[in-house]
Amino acid sequence: MIEVEGLTKRYGRTLAVDGLSFTVEPGRVTGFLGPNGAGKSTTMRMVLGLDRPSAGRVLVDGRPYAELTDPLRRVGALLEARAVHGGRSAYHHLLWLAQTNRIPVSRVGEVLEQVGLTAVKRKRVKGFSLGMNQRLGIAAALLGDPGVLLFDEPVNGLDPEGIVWLRTLLKDLAGQGRTVFVSSHLMSEMALTAEHLVVIGRGRLLADTTVERFIADN
Ligand code: ADP
Ligand code: ADP
Repeated sequence: MIEVEGLTKRYGRTLAVDGLSFTVEPGRVTGFLGPNGAGKSTTMRMVLGLDRPSAGRVLVDGRPYAELTDPLRRVGALLEARAVHGGRSAYHHLLWLAQTNRIPVSRVGEVLEQVGLTAVKRKRVKGFSLGMNQRLGIAAALLGDPGVLLFDEPVNGLDPEGIVWLRTLLKDLAGQGRTVFVSSHLMSEMALTAEHLVVIGRGRLLADTTVERFIADN
C-alpha cells in the first residue's frame, strides 16, 4: 500500500505537487492520470525517495522509502528517465541489480522470460529499441518480486502487441494482491488498464474514484 499525505514539491517558483493526499490499495490497478506536467513523475520520485518533499510525506507499507530494508524487494519501479549503462547486456544489468540488492540470482532468468527478452539477453542495451528498453525497465521493476510496483508512462515506446501484453501483466500483478500504480496522460489507456483512478492537474488532486464512476461523471 502507498499512502500519500499532504504531499507538496516546489522547484523554485514552480509548485509541481500541491498538497496531494490519496492511498493506493493493493489488489487492483490504480491509474495515475493527468496531463503532461501535472506532477505525476515528481510524485512517483518522492514515493521512491529520489526527491525530497517540500511538505507532507509518503509511506510505503507504513514506512518512508528510506527506512525500508531491501527496498527493491518491496518496491519495483519503471521510471521515465532511468538510464541503463548501455555497454552492459540486459543479462548483466539485471545480474548486477540482483547482486547489489540481495535478490536471488535465479530471478534474473525468470524476469527476462516474463518480459520476453530471453533471446536478446546477451546483447548490449545500447542497441535496444525503445520497446526493448521499456521491457528491460519492467524486468528490473519485477526483479525483487516486490509487493508494490510503480510504472511511470510504461506504454511509451511499446508497440501495439507490447501494450496489450503490458495491460495483462499489470492486471495479473494486481490479481496476485500487489499494489500497482501506473501513470498515464491518456484516459483511453487507463480505461482499459485500471480499476481505480487518481486524477491530478497542476499538482492537485482532481478525483480519486473508480474508472467506471469517473467515466460516468465526465
Ligand atoms: P508529469 O510527470 O505529470 O508530466 P512532472 O512531475 O514531470 O509532471 O512535472 C511537474 C512540474 O514540475 C512541471 O511543471 C515540471 O516542469 C516541473 N519539474 C519537474 N521536475 C523538475 C525539476 N527537476 N526542476 C524544476 N522543475 C521540475
Ligand atoms: P546510480 O547507481 O547511477 O546512482 P541508481 O542506483 O539510481 O543509479 O540506479 C542504477 C540502476 O538501478 C538503474 O539503471 C535502474 O535500472 C536500477 N534501479 C534502481 N532503483 C530501482 C528500482 N526501484 N526499481 C527498478 N530498478 C531500479
